[in-house]
Amino acid sequence: MSGFFNIRAWVGVLLFACGIMPAVAANPFQTIPWNGYSGAASFTFDDGVFQVEHLPQMLEEMPEVKVTFFLSNMGADILNLYGAEFAYLARQGHEIGNHSNNHKHLTSLSENNLRKEVIDFANEIQQVLNSYGADVNITSNALPFSANSEQVSKVVNERHFINRSSWGNGRHNWDEEPRWTDMDSRAWYSWPNAEEDLLKALDTAAYIGDFTSSNPWYNPVKSPAWVVLLNHGVSYMGENHITPEAMRNAFKHAVENNMWVAPFSTVGAYYRAHFTLDAAQAVAEGNDKYTVTWEMPHKDMPKSIPMKVKLTPQFIEETFGQDDSIVLEQDGNTIYPDENGVFTIEFASQQVTIRKASKSANMKPYSVLSIKKQVSLAPNENITYTLMDMKGNRLGETNGFEVPAHQPKGAYIIRAAAPGFAPVTRKVFR
Ligand SMILES: [Zn+2]
Repeated sequence: MSGFFNIRAWVGVLLFACGIMPAVAANPFQTIPWNGYSGAASFTFDDGVFQVEHLPQMLEEMPEVKVTFFLSNMGADILNLYGAEFAYLARQGHEIGNHSNNHKHLTSLSENNLRKEVIDFANEIQQVLNSYGADVNITSNALPFSANSEQVSKVVNERHFINRSSWGNGRHNWDEEPRWTDMDSRAWYSWPNAEEDLLKALDTAAYIGDFTSSNPWYNPVKSPAWVVLLNHGVSYMGENHITPEAMRNAFKHAVENNMWVAPFSTVGAYYRAHFTLDAAQAVAEGNDKYTVTWEMPHKDMPKSIPMKVKLTPQFIEETFGQDDSIVLEQDGNTIYPDENGVFTIEFASQQVTIRKASKSANMKPYSVLSIKKQVSLAPNENITYTLMDMKGNRLGETNGFEVPAHQPKGAYIIRAAAPGFAPVTRKVFR
């Protein structure tokens, strides 16, 4: 075993000495787990039945909650029956995923029929919802009855970067790469104490509690994780239907836990991309400039995957040094770090340049860049505060992080921006 690695190291040295391999520094990026939240929760709803009665209004009242609907025709014509409602939900930022055309046990189908049930139907969902006015991009699948096999996984993987199954507690650890074609979820059923257990599962994923005695051999709890929840109808029918009150409590609980409550594909893409990004290498290009490139791990991923990253201390140490102001460049835009040294980059662009900030940029060194400090040092006219509603619609300018008194009571977003600094966005209540 060790001999194998020695040979690899020796070949690496040889290639480097011959000038075949470019000089490579330490891995530059470390992705911030779960988009900077205390874990993540993805609420997924299967079959498209008993979901448009209570959920749309509930979700409208909680704009920080975005969920996933896995649609199937269920041997009928569910897509057209509820097409307008699901198109509306899609336009609000909720995900539409694939749950196969006729909801059969996919393991019993021939490869040809599998393609019709799964791949053709993914395209059909897009077309139908498009005809109802929603631009839907299907990137995830959920298996009917969680029936999976090597062949099912293979066909699903031809058209989706991630596939939801259900066989356990639905929890996924940040630093362990899962099987993307068989992602576990935690299924709701109206057992005694089910409501309390659901809230506890959200606490566990947010790493709230004492886990010193947690089971060491089965998916141990060691840091904030991603929990994938599987629900069916939201109604008073019991069994695998959850009541509207319990559903609302679970959404609220996840938000109060400071979790990232986002669709299955959104969290899944961030999770999958981080394994690529954290392994990416920087190649020196002349003085004080490095380029990082990477490949997409799958062709069917969301069109935009914003990633929050920091530069690793090792990379800074080996390259620029702590005292320099460093910026990133992507697609012709300069990206500045926020007050904690976090950059937001676009994974789908597949390339970033890291360089010293030009002297004229008037930036403070890397570690102390702070729009907050700038504000307290000199409350100057260079900072603009934009007031937005929770959907991101611009309502006008304001002074500081305060909502003008003439606005109705509620939650708002205020974005502060100044030339040469990363914008700061805050949620503010009036
Ligand atoms: Zn189903």
